[in-house]
Amino acid sequence: MPVMDPLTCIRKLISAGPVCDHCLGTRLAGLGHGLTARQRGEMARALVGAGAGPGETCWVCGGAFQRVPDWAAQAAQLAAPYEHRTFLFGVRPSPRLEATQEFLDRRFPAPQAEPVRRELNRELGRHYERLVGRQVTVDFQHPHLRFTLDLETGRIELQVASAYFYGRYRKLVRGIPQTHWPCRACRGRGCERCQFTGKQYPTSVEELILPAFLEACAGEGGHLHGAGREDVDARMLGRGRPFVLEVKAPRRRTVDLAEIARRINATAQGRVEVRELRPAPPELVEQVKSLRARKLYRAKVRFSQEVEEGELARAAAGLVGEIAQRTPIRVSHRRADLVRQRRVFQAKTRYLSPSEAELEILCDGGLYVKELISGDEGRTDPSLAGLLGVPAQVVELDVLEVLDDLPPPDQGTSVPGGQNHEPEL
Ligand SMILES: [Zn+2]
Ligand SMILES: [Zn+2]
Repeated sequence: MPVMDPLTCIRKLISAGPVCDHCLGTRLAGLGHGLTARQRGEMARALVGAGAGPGETCWVCGGAFQRVPDWAAQAAQLAAPYEHRTFLFGVRPSPRLEATQEFLDRRFPAPQAEPVRRELNRELGRHYERLVGRQVTVDFQHPHLRFTLDLETGRIELQVASAYFYGRYRKLVRGIPQTHWPCRACRGRGCERCQFTGKQYPTSVEELILPAFLEACAGEGGHLHGAGREDVDARMLGRGRPFVLEVKAPRRRTVDLAEIARRINATAQGRVEVRELRPAPPELVEQVKSLRARKLYRAKVRFSQEVEEGELARAAAGLVGEIAQRTPIRVSHRRADLVRQRRVFQAKTRYLSPSEAELEILCDGGLYVKELISGDEGRTDPSLAGLLGVPAQVVELDVLEVLDDLPPPDQGTSVPGGQNHEPEL
């Protein structure tokens, strides 16, 4: 059937059965600047001389628009425990509405038509805004709260978006993994070896940082997303490693980050320190996780045979440049076996004794420094051990700096909550 002119469409629609102004308006979306669908419906009805709206239930929406105030109230009740500045409604159509919509598009085709569901979304949003007041606005991208109206059951479902915070951590002691590691013996079920904790290490950076956030936000769990990770036995010094902390289902989003930092730093007792905390957008999780920043390392190295200072300096100089590194044996069980090209930009040495030295290495992210020293049975080339012709091992490793270009703390959303929301529409 060819597209009808709008008024013919309206006239036919009205004569097909009782239809509400909202549903009428959806056939004319885009017509009449600044009008709501309902106002458009009303006007169209007047233009075709059809009098007032129907007293009976609309055959298109089945009376859904009359239930909007109730649904908005239900949503407000569900949302009450959760601090939020943004929200979004969605509608899961019932088979009935889907069939009706299809019939409508087939029998009353109009060039400006939009789905009834879209008008229902908008109406729910409008009523919700009016009901809740307090500067809540619709956000199509990352709403704090997402309501779904299931038209079949007439129920509203609520999804609470996580809250995200950027920060950097320093790890000042060795022997702490970044995140909780299941016990190797029992794989986390709990056994004598792990004293029934299910954990390989008693704590982790995540376990030292997360609780203060969970408490402040009254959230239901969370996760630390790190920009890479240092070895368990390596310290993380300097400005620290960037991370994004995610709190799930937070009841509070405006939190005192300075206070959270104080609490974490006090509880961790010199093991871990956080700094530069600030609210973060959700996208920062992926950005931080895929960060490939250069790193500055300090490695204490032990030789199995005596090495002279001059030999050491020459060998270290030979490390600068391209390194071909096949996946190290120690991580080969969880990383694909392939050869990576990484760069060493600088290798400074401090000769301590014929059997010990300290190296400061500036290199690409993703270079395994322990293997750069040991050679990993020839899998890393060149290596310090290879260049010296003497077996060499890292006995202590520190990350001195993660050299990323994430925005410094005085930029971006440095306000601890509350002020980084969208302006009112
Ligand atoms: Zn209707
Ligand atoms: Zn165990």
